[in-house]
Amino acid sequence: MLHKVFNFCAGPAAMPQEVMYKAQQEFRNYHGTQVSLLEMSHRSNLFDEVIKKAEANVRFLMDIPDEYGVFFIQGGASFQFAMLAMNLLPPIGKADYIDTGRWSQKAIEQAKLIGNVNVIASGKDIGYTAIPQVDELIIDPGAAYLHFTSNNTVYGTQFHEFPDYGNNVPLVCDMSSDIMSREVDVEKFAMIYAGLQKNLGPSGMSLVIMRPDMIEKSYRVLPDLLKYSTYDHYHNLYNTPNSFAVYMLSLVTDWIREQGGVGIVERINDVKSEILYEEIDRSEGFYNGFAFAPDRSRMNVCFNLPTTELDQKFVAEAAEKGMVGLAGHRSVGGIRASIYNAMPLKGVSRLIDFMTDFKKKNS
Ligand code: PMP
Repeated sequence: MLHKVFNFCAGPAAMPQEVMYKAQQEFRNYHGTQVSLLEMSHRSNLFDEVIKKAEANVRFLMDIPDEYGVFFIQGGASFQFAMLAMNLLPPIGKADYIDTGRWSQKAIEQAKLIGNVNVIASGKDIGYTAIPQVDELIIDPGAAYLHFTSNNTVYGTQFHEFPDYGNNVPLVCDMSSDIMSREVDVEKFAMIYAGLQKNLGPSGMSLVIMRPDMIEKSYRVLPDLLKYSTYDHYHNLYNTPNSFAVYMLSLVTDWIREQGGVGIVERINDVKSEILYEEIDRSEGFYNGFAFAPDRSRMNVCFNLPTTELDQKFVAEAAEKGMVGLAGHRSVGGIRASIYNAMPLKGVSRLIDFMTDFKKKNS
């Protein structure tokens, strides 16, 4: 498939070209019906096939135990920041959070509106350049759950090993920016959630994976749509779901299966990130990686050039050469190359060639 432009945007992010092509082909005439899937009842047989396939693909690709719930919930990951606390944080009691930057902070802020939150570790003092160490001594076995963000989209840091405190503390993880980019043992988690718009589809919908004992844990009287149990009882069809997002999720997960599954995609992600970090490290300080090397993200590669003028020049010239979306998050600046599953190795190679050339001309 031809790539005229490689899109390094952090999210909404590049989708696999094959998926975009298929969606385009089917857009106005879904499976010979002369009707778009967007115009079809969510109770129709054709949509039923789509939503069942999306769920089956997610379960297969992540090897999710049968008893876990798989939910498609409208609103992005930020909506989950509040919803999970409403459901899982008891009025008396508390939840532990690890603060690794902007998104975990937002999760903390929202949970604080609902109940008691204890921040057990934070990377704030070091500008979120590394994943903070958790002192196991302060883990409270009575905490309702421990929340963390597996990949920090803004700073390009990532947990390469997940916190593991046995079954005492249920682990709740925001995997928005690295879901299905690597194999994870779902059974270690009480809840995993992710906005779709990096590795799985369009924005505005979250995938939620939940251990059965957590699903019914509603500590408050909540409207039906705010309870996980509703999504469970109605198999994600209590009301009209975001049918287009579910459809795109089914296509993207088909594509991951065609690639050979998450394990294969993970190996490609390893190569892409390794060669990019090698280029940074080879540059003798012209490109400065933001993250502490052992915590570097395989999804968001963040670095700076010697001056902000050079950062801007880099972004502008890269765009002229067909590489877009490289500006760092507005709170950090610099460059951020987001290389999610859909970014082909070819795109990373083109970026590396450009970096080599740009350094030669500007240092
Ligand atoms: N968590 C992480 C790790 C993110 O990267 C983002 C978005 N970039 C969010 C949560 C928020 O997602 P949304 O905009 O879908 O609410």
